Amino acid sequence: MTQSFSFSLNATDGKARTGVISTPRGDIRTPAFMPVGTAATVKAMMPESVAATGADILLGNTYHLMLRPTAERIANLGGLHKFMNWDKPILTDSGGFQVMSLSDLRKMSEKGVTFRSHIDGSKHELTPERSMEIQKLLGSDIVMCFDECPALPADRTRINESMQMSMRWAQRSRDAFGDRPGYALFGIQQGGLEEDLRAESAAALRDIEFDGYAVGGLAVGEGQEAMFNVLDFAPDQLPTDKPRYLMGVGKPDDIVGAVKRGIDMMDCVLPSRSGRTGQIFTRHGVLNIKNARHADDPRPLDENCGCPACRNYSRAYLHHVFRAQEMISGMLLTWHNLHYFQDIMQGMRDAIATGSFAAWEADFHAGRAQGDIEPL
Ligand SMILES: [Zn+2]
Repeated sequence: MTQSFSFSLNATDGKARTGVISTPRGDIRTPAFMPVGTAATVKAMMPESVAATGADILLGNTYHLMLRPTAERIANLGGLHKFMNWDKPILTDSGGFQVMSLSDLRKMSEKGVTFRSHIDGSKHELTPERSMEIQKLLGSDIVMCFDECPALPADRTRINESMQMSMRWAQRSRDAFGDRPGYALFGIQQGGLEEDLRAESAAALRDIEFDGYAVGGLAVGEGQEAMFNVLDFAPDQLPTDKPRYLMGVGKPDDIVGAVKRGIDMMDCVLPSRSGRTGQIFTRHGVLNIKNARHADDPRPLDENCGCPACRNYSRAYLHHVFRAQEMISGMLLTWHNLHYFQDIMQGMRDAIATGSFAAWEADFHAGRAQGDIEPL
């Protein structure tokens, strides 16, 4: 097994790419979807079940883990992989985004951000240096730069000032990360919806040099059309020989549209969170298991799906355990959703490798347009 971090591109089809990120903890096939394991668990899933869906890597949240149980405690217990019993690669975010969305009484300066925990009100500070320290304590394989991401819409002056500070923080993150063979540090492009600011941000990151590059600051309320408009140019501004990661995306059609535009990695809570609220994604679109139409339906969610929820259980059963608020409901529905998202990724990887992405994409959209099977 390799002892270094590397990325090799195996095929391209239009702007879509397929390849492999090699790490000492295993390979990540791209395009890759990363399930979110916020508090050292992908909710309702055993780690071996997450792996069985086809996930090569998962995402952990610095903000949550630093507050509870703390990075120091996890480090003393052997690191995040051992702590949560997941031996494949882990990517951690920097904590910045969730400080902005979850914490109270934030105060931002050039140095970093101070805030109060949403759990117990305790006071904390995150800086680029502290974020690098926490992610190192966790043992994260792919570390994200500490940055600031303004909610959209925001005016150009605000976007520009924020991007400039994020680029200074990117340099400080790089300096604090140091030289750690086998581990990767990703820079994060900012600049909102503005092409020239995105280009300036990309140039600053390329000067610093990272192991991978994220397109940040999207999926923050701008809508799919605006996001795709940015993705029509943003990935092209980043190096072709490094992985490109779109943070916090998304719905199945967002993911397909992003890969089409040259994105290699994504993460989102959507499949796991939706699994717990009864929202199911299949190749025929979205269905809600709590609807009465499923109460007597002996058919699976999707007869073509290979997940345990579809192989072994009827819609009627899944409807029943959801309504009865049984724990197996969240387990099975999360498993199905994660399995379906990984099926999409495998489908795209195969299609790109054989030069048939356009046909695969047409089939994907046709399946969704068809809608769920008719009620019995
Ligand atoms: Zn299934």
